[in-house]
Amino acid sequence: MDAKDIKKEYTNGEVTVVWQSAKCIHSGNCVRNNPDVFQPKEKPWIKIEASSTEKIIDTVNKCPSGALTYFKNK
Ligand code: SF4
Repeated sequence: MDAKDIKKEYTNGEVTVVWQSAKCIHSGNCVRNNPDVFQPKEKPWIKIEASSTEKIIDTVNKCPSGALTYFKNK
């Protein structure tokens, strides 16, 4: 895994979002659908606390590349 192939996880305790940099095609869908959470200029770029779990899941489901996935925490 090189520097361009990063896998990161962000969790709010209910849901964990996984982002795989190598798959991201920079469509910007995530940013458009949920700009409070997905802030590419910030670090960390995903502000997982900034919207509801439901909205986060909805946004992740609209990622066209599979770069964003999620799983529910137990
Ligand atoms: S929606 Fe998916 S492919 Fe598009 S910018 Fe966000 S993470 Fe990348």
